[in-house]
Amino acid sequence: MKNFNMDQIVALAKRRGFAYPGSEIYGGFANSYTYGPYGSELKKNIKDLWWKTFVQNRTDVVGIDGDIILHPKTWEASGHLNNFNDPLVDCKSCKKRIRVDDFLEDWIKKRTGATMEYEKILEKFRKDVPKEEVYQEGLKEGAKKTSNFSEYAKQVVRFEEGIAKDDLKLVHQILQGQKIKCPFCGKVDWAEPRQFNLMFSTQMSKTLEGEGTVAYLRPETAQAIFLEFKNIVDTMRVKLPFGIAQIGKAFRNEITPGNFIFRRLEFEQMEIEYFIFENTWEKTFEAWLKDMKDWCQLIGLTKVHELEHAQEKLSHYSKRTVDLEYDFPFGRKELYGLAYRTDFDLAQHEAFSKKELKIHDEESGKKILPHVIEPTWGVDRTVLALLCEAYHEEKLEDGERVVLKFKPIVAPVKVAVMPLMKKDGMKEKAEEVFELVKEFGNCELDDGGSIGKRYRRQDEIGTPVCVTIDYDTMEKGTVTIRDRDSMKQERVKIGELVDKLRKRYFTI
Ligand SMILES: [Zn+2]
Repeated sequence: MKNFNMDQIVALAKRRGFAYPGSEIYGGFANSYTYGPYGSELKKNIKDLWWKTFVQNRTDVVGIDGDIILHPKTWEASGHLNNFNDPLVDCKSCKKRIRVDDFLEDWIKKRTGATMEYEKILEKFRKDVPKEEVYQEGLKEGAKKTSNFSEYAKQVVRFEEGIAKDDLKLVHQILQGQKIKCPFCGKVDWAEPRQFNLMFSTQMSKTLEGEGTVAYLRPETAQAIFLEFKNIVDTMRVKLPFGIAQIGKAFRNEITPGNFIFRRLEFEQMEIEYFIFENTWEKTFEAWLKDMKDWCQLIGLTKVHELEHAQEKLSHYSKRTVDLEYDFPFGRKELYGLAYRTDFDLAQHEAFSKKELKIHDEESGKKILPHVIEPTWGVDRTVLALLCEAYHEEKLEDGERVVLKFKPIVAPVKVAVMPLMKKDGMKEKAEEVFELVKEFGNCELDDGGSIGKRYRRQDEIGTPVCVTIDYDTMEKGTVTIRDRDSMKQERVKIGELVDKLRKRYFTI
């Protein structure tokens, strides 16, 4: 198959009703998208299947549905108020604002012309040279203009350290010292970079006692789960180990969203906080990693890779983090995440709320604070990965076709029923057949245009099977079923249709 790029995915998504640019009649709005009829079906299939797999089919996980706006203290306790920042820099000349870490990294990549090799060399450099040393050296020397790669690599590490230590003076020094041009106006006139919090804040009309009027849209779904931990323990007779699951929207005020629905200001997460005894964390971590990989297989994602986070790059709360990355057309990027959060969150909420969150451990007779393994799935990223995985362009005898080879379990349309003509009772017959097949999920009655065109359209939205009603149907009671992937057609009796489709497409 030919290589394809994001433009083709974005074009197909719009053409076929998966996702439209948001607020388009007003000229679009900050990387927002509206899921169209097929996009929302696809998304709903993902969420329903996830809920069934990880909540309903398990005896150790329960679900909740929490609020988007939580008590502001939540974000103080979780560390988001202080630590959840992006370093941004303003160009003094044109007043544009950019995210400086991404920008510098891209600049260095472009400057060296290094592509795949770049990360490898950088990784080696990070390992071989003690960071503190490079950092100190960086402070002394400032940033020099150079074409030598290892010098550049040093600059990268220096600047990473600058960000990590919140030493944005050093980052500024590199921007000015290397004479790095503003991508918008070409001038070298940078203000000192600053940290900006990624949480969307909003004004409450009601004054919160001792808190003022500022509240936040949640930047992750996890915290609502920690806030309800005590209620779940008190009301649901759960025993360690157990999980609490939630699906919902989260919001991040990022300056550089992009790559279609990959990074958005508002997005949807499927998350579980799985509470455990501390000494079982390694075993439980491995078990969840396997469950997450099985999930990828279940929905049909194959280009998935594990990325173990280096110890020094872990978030402030985590002892081990593994990302599942996906090979998107724009590179290998994070799809899902798995983190061991220790007892950080519960301990923080206990300290800030002054309510005891420890539970009684029958075995030891002591009160303990459970530890947590957190698997997270991005819903929008799953939609995008499935579109990319499914997308195929094929040469046929009479031209080409674009086909989305979704597994039937996620396909937005399960069966398309097509009357050859709208006359001679075929349309009515098609309506009868539609009533038979709709038990498989969202089905379509497709009666416009030539049969060939209708097949192409169904191929492009990834419908696994089409059922055609023709003159033989009226005379002999048989229909044609046409398989999306092989394009083979077969006649079957209407009485056997449902069983045949169930066996072939709709049995897990
Ligand atoms: Zn500028």
